[in-house]
Amino acid sequence: MEPLLDRLGRPLETLRVSITDRCNFRCVYCMPKEVFGRDYPFLAREQLLTFEEIARVVSIFASLGVRTVRLTGGEPLVRRDVEQLVGLLGAIPDVELALTTNGALLPQKAAALAAAGLDRVTVSLDSVDDATFRSLNDVDFPVERVLEGIDAATAAGLGVKVNAVVKRGANDDGIVALAERFRGTAHVLRFIEYMDVGHTNGWRLDEVVPAEEIVRRIDAVWPLEPVASERADETSRRFRYRDGGGEIGVISSVTQPFCGACSRARLSAEGSLYTCLFAVRGHDLREPLRAGASDEEIVALLRGIWTRRTDRYSELRTAGTAALPKVEMSYIGG
Ligand code: SAM
Repeated sequence: MEPLLDRLGRPLETLRVSITDRCNFRCVYCMPKEVFGRDYPFLAREQLLTFEEIARVVSIFASLGVRTVRLTGGEPLVRRDVEQLVGLLGAIPDVELALTTNGALLPQKAAALAAAGLDRVTVSLDSVDDATFRSLNDVDFPVERVLEGIDAATAAGLGVKVNAVVKRGANDDGIVALAERFRGTAHVLRFIEYMDVGHTNGWRLDEVVPAEEIVRRIDAVWPLEPVASERADETSRRFRYRDGGGEIGVISSVTQPFCGACSRARLSAEGSLYTCLFAVRGHDLREPLRAGASDEEIVALLRGIWTRRTDRYSELRTAGTAALPKVEMSYIGG
Protein backbone atom coordinates (compact mmCIF):
# COMPACT_ATOMS: atom_id res chain seq x y z
CA MET A 1 0.00 0.00 0.00
CA GLU A 2 1.19 3.53 -0.79
CA PRO A 3 2.07 5.28 2.48
CA LEU A 4 -0.25 8.13 3.37
CA LEU A 5 1.83 11.32 3.32
CA ASP A 6 1.04 14.78 4.64
CA ARG A 7 1.82 18.05 2.83
CA LEU A 8 5.42 17.89 4.14
CA GLY A 9 5.90 14.28 3.02
CA ARG A 10 5.54 12.78 6.50
CA PRO A 11 3.87 9.35 6.81
CA LEU A 12 1.25 8.46 9.42
CA GLU A 13 2.86 5.78 11.58
CA THR A 14 2.02 6.31 15.23
CA LEU A 15 -1.30 6.94 16.94
CA ARG A 16 -1.44 8.13 20.54
CA VAL A 17 -4.82 7.47 22.10
CA SER A 18 -5.86 9.27 25.27
CA ILE A 19 -8.45 7.11 27.04
CA THR A 20 -9.29 9.38 29.96
CA ASP A 21 -8.61 12.97 31.01
CA ARG A 22 -8.50 11.96 34.69
CA CYS A 23 -5.39 11.19 36.69
CA ASN A 24 -4.54 9.96 40.18
CA PHE A 25 -1.53 12.35 40.33
CA ARG A 26 -1.52 16.14 40.36
CA CYS A 27 1.95 16.75 38.96
CA VAL A 28 2.64 20.40 39.55
CA TYR A 29 3.74 21.12 35.97
CA CYS A 30 0.90 19.15 34.31
CA MET A 31 -2.32 19.00 36.40
CA PRO A 32 -1.79 21.45 39.26
CA LYS A 33 -4.35 21.19 42.06
CA GLU A 34 -5.33 24.83 41.73
CA VAL A 35 -6.58 24.16 38.18
CA PHE A 36 -7.62 20.48 38.38
CA GLY A 37 -9.54 20.63 41.65
CA ARG A 38 -12.83 19.14 42.79
CA ASP A 39 -14.85 21.37 40.44
CA TYR A 40 -12.82 20.73 37.30
CA PRO A 41 -15.14 19.74 34.41
CA PHE A 42 -13.66 16.37 33.52
CA LEU A 43 -15.28 14.53 30.61
CA ALA A 44 -18.45 12.59 31.45
CA ARG A 45 -18.56 8.86 30.70
CA GLU A 46 -20.83 9.25 27.65
CA GLN A 47 -18.41 11.77 26.16
CA LEU A 48 -15.59 9.21 26.16
CA LEU A 49 -15.16 6.92 23.18
CA THR A 50 -16.21 3.41 24.21
CA PHE A 51 -13.69 0.55 23.96
CA GLU A 52 -15.48 -0.69 20.84
CA GLU A 53 -15.29 2.77 19.24
CA ILE A 54 -11.57 3.04 20.06
CA ALA A 55 -10.89 -0.43 18.66
CA ARG A 56 -12.75 0.41 15.47
CA VAL A 57 -10.86 3.67 14.96
CA VAL A 58 -7.52 2.00 15.69
CA SER A 59 -8.23 -0.77 13.14
CA ILE A 60 -9.00 1.86 10.53
CA PHE A 61 -5.79 3.74 11.37
CA ALA A 62 -3.89 0.43 11.12
CA SER A 63 -5.31 -0.04 7.60
CA LEU A 64 -3.83 3.38 6.74
CA GLY A 65 -0.33 2.42 7.89
CA VAL A 66 -0.24 3.07 11.65
CA ARG A 67 2.15 0.55 13.22
CA THR A 68 2.44 1.79 16.82
CA VAL A 69 -0.48 2.61 19.09
CA ARG A 70 0.21 4.18 22.45
CA LEU A 71 -2.46 4.46 25.14
CA THR A 72 -2.16 7.55 27.30
CA GLY A 73 -4.28 10.02 29.28
CA GLY A 74 -4.75 11.44 31.94
CA GLU A 75 -3.62 8.25 33.53
CA PRO A 76 -4.69 5.36 31.29
CA LEU A 77 -4.65 2.84 34.13
CA VAL A 78 -7.44 4.68 35.98
CA ARG A 79 -9.89 3.90 33.15
CA ARG A 80 -11.99 1.00 34.41
CA ASP A 81 -11.32 -2.39 32.75
CA VAL A 82 -8.45 -1.00 30.67
CA GLU A 83 -7.25 -4.62 30.23
CA GLN A 84 -10.34 -5.28 28.10
CA LEU A 85 -9.40 -2.45 25.76
CA VAL A 86 -5.85 -3.78 25.58
CA GLY A 87 -7.33 -7.17 24.63
CA LEU A 88 -9.33 -5.64 21.77
CA LEU A 89 -6.36 -3.63 20.46
CA GLY A 90 -3.92 -6.49 20.95
CA ALA A 91 -5.94 -8.50 18.46
CA ILE A 92 -5.35 -5.98 15.64
CA PRO A 93 -2.61 -7.44 13.42
CA ASP A 94 0.74 -5.71 12.78
CA VAL A 95 0.29 -3.09 15.49
CA GLU A 96 2.67 -2.71 18.40
CA LEU A 97 0.77 -1.70 21.52
CA ALA A 98 2.40 0.57 24.11
CA LEU A 99 1.13 2.51 27.10
CA THR A 100 2.41 5.57 28.95
CA THR A 101 1.73 5.59 32.68
CA ASN A 102 2.79 7.18 35.94
CA GLY A 103 3.28 3.61 37.16
CA ALA A 104 1.20 3.96 40.33
CA LEU A 105 -1.17 1.12 39.42
CA LEU A 106 1.37 -1.08 37.65
CA PRO A 107 2.09 -3.30 40.66
CA GLN A 108 -1.47 -4.65 40.50
CA LYS A 109 -2.11 -4.31 36.75
CA ALA A 110 1.12 -5.22 34.92
CA ALA A 111 0.50 -8.97 34.67
CA ALA A 112 -3.08 -8.57 33.40
CA LEU A 113 -1.99 -5.96 30.83
CA ALA A 114 0.76 -8.20 29.50
CA ALA A 115 -1.61 -11.17 29.35
CA ALA A 116 -4.12 -9.04 27.42
CA GLY A 117 -1.55 -8.25 24.72
CA LEU A 118 0.30 -5.10 25.76
CA ASP A 119 3.86 -5.04 24.37
CA ARG A 120 5.57 -2.28 26.34
CA VAL A 121 5.15 0.53 28.82
CA THR A 122 6.79 3.90 29.29
CA VAL A 123 6.80 4.91 32.93
CA SER A 124 6.97 8.62 33.72
CA LEU A 125 9.28 9.13 36.69
CA ASP A 126 10.82 12.54 37.29
CA SER A 127 12.86 11.83 40.41
CA VAL A 128 14.12 8.91 42.48
CA ASP A 129 14.33 11.10 45.55
CA ASP A 130 11.21 10.32 47.57
CA ALA A 131 10.65 13.83 48.93
CA THR A 132 11.09 15.43 45.49
CA PHE A 133 8.86 12.84 43.86
CA ARG A 134 6.08 13.30 46.44
CA SER A 135 6.16 17.07 46.00
CA LEU A 136 6.11 16.79 42.18
CA ASN A 137 3.15 14.36 42.05
CA ASP A 138 1.49 16.45 44.80
CA VAL A 139 -0.56 13.53 46.14
CA ASP A 140 2.24 12.31 48.41
CA PHE A 141 2.75 9.16 46.33
CA PRO A 142 5.94 7.28 47.30
CA VAL A 143 8.59 6.70 44.65
CA GLU A 144 9.14 3.15 45.92
CA ARG A 145 5.72 2.12 44.66
CA VAL A 146 6.52 3.32 41.11
CA LEU A 147 9.81 1.43 41.23
CA GLU A 148 7.80 -1.66 42.26
CA GLY A 149 5.57 -1.01 39.28
CA ILE A 150 8.60 -0.98 36.97
CA ASP A 151 9.72 -4.30 38.46
CA ALA A 152 6.22 -5.77 38.07
CA ALA A 153 6.10 -4.72 34.41
CA THR A 154 9.53 -6.21 33.77
CA ALA A 155 8.56 -9.46 35.52
CA ALA A 156 5.42 -9.62 33.36
CA GLY A 157 7.60 -9.52 30.24
CA LEU A 158 6.74 -5.98 29.16
CA GLY A 159 9.43 -3.76 27.64
CA VAL A 160 9.95 -0.81 30.00
CA LYS A 161 11.29 2.66 29.26
CA VAL A 162 11.42 5.48 31.78
CA ASN A 163 10.72 9.12 30.89
CA ALA A 164 11.72 12.02 33.12
CA VAL A 165 10.60 15.60 32.51
CA VAL A 166 13.20 18.02 33.81
CA LYS A 167 12.19 21.42 35.17
CA ARG A 168 14.90 23.69 36.50
CA GLY A 169 14.60 24.28 40.22
CA ALA A 170 12.09 21.42 40.61
CA ASN A 171 14.06 18.23 39.89
CA ASP A 172 17.20 19.08 37.90
CA ASP A 173 19.35 18.41 40.95
CA GLY A 174 18.34 14.74 40.63
CA ILE A 175 19.42 14.14 37.00
CA VAL A 176 22.55 12.20 37.93
CA ALA A 177 20.75 10.14 40.62
CA LEU A 178 18.08 9.16 38.07
CA ALA A 179 20.78 8.15 35.58
CA GLU A 180 22.52 6.13 38.28
CA ARG A 181 19.31 4.28 39.21
CA PHE A 182 18.79 2.99 35.67
CA ARG A 183 22.42 2.54 34.56
CA GLY A 184 23.18 -1.09 33.96
CA THR A 185 19.48 -2.08 33.78
CA ALA A 186 17.42 -3.05 30.76
CA HIS A 187 15.44 0.19 31.09
CA VAL A 188 16.40 3.07 28.82
CA LEU A 189 15.96 6.37 30.65
CA ARG A 190 14.97 9.39 28.58
CA PHE A 191 15.05 12.98 29.74
CA ILE A 192 12.44 15.34 28.32
CA GLU A 193 12.63 19.11 28.10
CA TYR A 194 9.81 20.88 29.87
CA MET A 195 7.36 22.23 27.25
CA ASP A 196 4.85 25.10 27.16
CA VAL A 197 1.63 23.13 26.96
CA GLY A 198 -1.81 23.46 28.49
CA HIS A 199 -2.44 25.71 31.45
CA THR A 200 1.33 26.05 31.81
CA ASN A 201 1.16 29.31 29.91
CA GLY A 202 3.26 30.61 32.78
CA TRP A 203 5.99 28.36 31.33
CA ARG A 204 9.36 30.06 31.17
CA LEU A 205 12.30 29.29 28.95
CA ASP A 206 14.69 29.61 31.88
CA GLU A 207 12.95 26.63 33.52
CA VAL A 208 13.85 24.42 30.57
CA VAL A 209 17.04 22.46 31.11
CA PRO A 210 18.44 22.04 27.59
CA ALA A 211 19.13 18.46 26.55
CA GLU A 212 22.76 19.44 25.91
CA GLU A 213 23.12 20.43 29.55
CA ILE A 214 21.54 17.16 30.75
CA VAL A 215 23.98 15.18 28.63
CA ARG A 216 26.90 17.29 29.87
CA ARG A 217 25.99 16.74 33.51
CA ILE A 218 25.78 12.96 33.15
CA ASP A 219 28.85 12.81 30.89
CA ALA A 220 30.86 14.54 33.64
CA VAL A 221 30.21 11.54 35.89
CA TRP A 222 30.02 8.65 33.41
CA PRO A 223 31.39 9.58 29.96
CA LEU A 224 28.87 9.22 27.12
CA GLU A 225 29.06 8.84 23.34
CA PRO A 226 26.30 9.38 20.77
CA VAL A 227 24.48 6.43 19.21
CA ALA A 228 23.05 6.65 15.68
CA SER A 229 19.23 6.72 15.53
CA GLU A 230 17.51 3.62 14.24
CA ARG A 231 14.35 5.28 12.98
CA ALA A 232 13.87 8.49 11.05
CA ASP A 233 11.05 9.59 13.33
CA GLU A 234 12.87 8.83 16.57
CA THR A 235 12.07 11.62 18.99
CA SER A 236 15.01 11.03 21.31
CA ARG A 237 18.71 11.45 20.67
CA ARG A 238 20.54 8.47 22.10
CA PHE A 239 23.80 8.26 24.04
CA ARG A 240 25.65 5.26 25.43
CA TYR A 241 27.85 5.04 28.51
CA ARG A 242 31.40 4.43 27.34
CA ASP A 243 31.87 1.92 30.17
CA GLY A 244 29.05 -0.32 28.89
CA GLY A 245 26.45 0.84 31.44
CA GLY A 246 23.73 1.03 28.76
CA GLU A 247 22.00 3.99 27.12
CA ILE A 248 20.12 7.17 27.88
CA GLY A 249 18.07 9.38 25.57
CA VAL A 250 17.20 13.06 25.51
CA ILE A 251 14.09 14.55 23.92
CA SER A 252 14.82 18.16 23.03
CA SER A 253 11.36 19.26 21.94
CA VAL A 254 12.13 22.87 22.88
CA THR A 255 15.79 23.46 22.03
CA GLN A 256 15.94 21.22 18.92
CA PRO A 257 12.43 20.55 17.65
CA PHE A 258 11.92 17.54 15.42
CA CYS A 259 8.72 18.33 13.51
CA GLY A 260 10.35 17.32 10.23
CA ALA A 261 10.03 13.64 11.06
CA CYS A 262 6.81 13.74 13.06
CA SER A 263 4.61 10.81 12.05
CA ARG A 264 2.23 10.97 15.02
CA ALA A 265 -1.49 11.59 15.24
CA ARG A 266 -3.27 12.02 18.58
CA LEU A 267 -6.80 11.00 19.49
CA SER A 268 -8.36 12.62 22.55
CA ALA A 269 -10.51 10.65 24.98
CA GLU A 270 -13.64 12.15 23.44
CA GLY A 271 -12.60 11.23 19.93
CA SER A 272 -11.03 14.41 18.56
CA LEU A 273 -8.08 13.88 16.25
CA TYR A 274 -5.11 16.23 16.63
CA THR A 275 -2.32 16.29 14.09
CA CYS A 276 0.11 18.09 16.43
CA LEU A 277 0.66 18.19 20.19
CA PHE A 278 0.37 21.95 19.94
CA ALA A 279 -2.72 22.09 17.73
CA VAL A 280 -5.44 24.27 19.20
CA ARG A 281 -8.33 22.39 17.60
CA GLY A 282 -8.98 18.77 16.79
CA HIS A 283 -11.16 17.05 14.17
CA ASP A 284 -14.21 15.38 15.69
CA LEU A 285 -14.39 11.66 14.86
CA ARG A 286 -16.96 10.74 17.51
CA GLU A 287 -19.83 12.42 15.73
CA PRO A 288 -19.44 10.49 12.46
CA LEU A 289 -18.70 7.27 14.40
CA ARG A 290 -21.95 7.61 16.35
CA ALA A 291 -23.90 8.77 13.31
CA GLY A 292 -23.23 5.42 11.63
CA ALA A 293 -20.43 6.34 9.21
CA SER A 294 -19.03 3.36 7.29
CA ASP A 295 -15.35 2.35 7.50
CA GLU A 296 -14.88 3.76 3.97
CA GLU A 297 -16.28 7.11 5.06
CA ILE A 298 -13.97 7.22 8.11
CA VAL A 299 -11.01 6.28 5.91
CA ALA A 300 -11.85 9.14 3.54
CA LEU A 301 -12.12 11.54 6.47
CA LEU A 302 -8.74 10.47 7.92
CA ARG A 303 -7.06 10.62 4.52
CA GLY A 304 -8.37 14.14 4.04
CA ILE A 305 -7.11 15.26 7.44
CA TRP A 306 -3.65 13.70 7.10
CA THR A 307 -3.00 14.73 3.50
CA ARG A 308 -3.78 18.36 4.38
CA ARG A 309 -1.54 18.31 7.48
CA THR A 310 1.11 21.05 7.62
CA ASP A 311 1.69 21.40 11.41
CA ARG A 312 5.19 22.11 12.67
CA TYR A 313 4.47 24.18 15.69
CA SER A 314 7.68 23.54 17.60
CA GLU A 315 9.78 24.73 14.69
CA LEU A 316 7.67 27.83 14.19
CA ARG A 317 7.65 28.82 17.85
CA THR A 318 7.70 32.58 18.16
CA ALA A 319 6.58 35.13 20.69
CA GLY A 320 3.28 35.18 18.79
CA THR A 321 2.53 31.47 18.99
CA ALA A 322 3.51 31.29 22.68
CA ALA A 323 0.42 33.32 23.53
CA LEU A 324 -2.03 31.04 21.66
CA PRO A 325 -4.43 28.90 23.69
CA LYS A 326 -3.14 25.37 24.25
CA VAL A 327 -4.67 21.98 24.76
CA GLU A 328 -4.11 20.46 28.21
CA MET A 329 -1.42 17.78 28.38
CA SER A 330 -3.80 15.72 30.55
CA TYR A 331 -6.38 15.89 27.73
CA ILE A 332 -4.14 15.01 24.82
CA GLY A 333 -1.67 12.78 26.66
CA GLY A 334 1.73 14.12 25.61
N1 SAM B 1 -0.34 9.78 33.15
C1 SAM B 1 0.53 9.22 32.17
C2 SAM B 1 1.98 9.47 32.54
O1 SAM B 1 2.23 9.99 33.63
O2 SAM B 1 2.84 9.12 31.76
C3 SAM B 1 0.25 9.65 30.73
C4 SAM B 1 -0.12 11.07 30.45
S1 SAM B 1 1.10 12.29 30.85
C5 SAM B 1 0.30 13.78 30.30
C6 SAM B 1 2.32 11.99 29.61
C7 SAM B 1 3.68 12.63 29.83
O3 SAM B 1 3.59 14.02 29.63
C8 SAM B 1 4.26 12.44 31.23
O4 SAM B 1 5.54 11.87 31.09
C9 SAM B 1 4.38 13.84 31.74
O5 SAM B 1 5.49 14.00 32.60
C10 SAM B 1 4.55 14.62 30.46
N2 SAM B 1 4.28 16.05 30.59
C11 SAM B 1 3.25 16.67 31.16
N3 SAM B 1 3.38 18.01 31.08
C12 SAM B 1 4.55 18.25 30.43
C13 SAM B 1 5.24 19.43 30.03
N4 SAM B 1 4.79 20.64 30.29
N5 SAM B 1 6.41 19.28 29.36
C14 SAM B 1 6.90 18.05 29.08
N6 SAM B 1 6.29 16.91 29.42
C15 SAM B 1 5.13 17.00 30.09
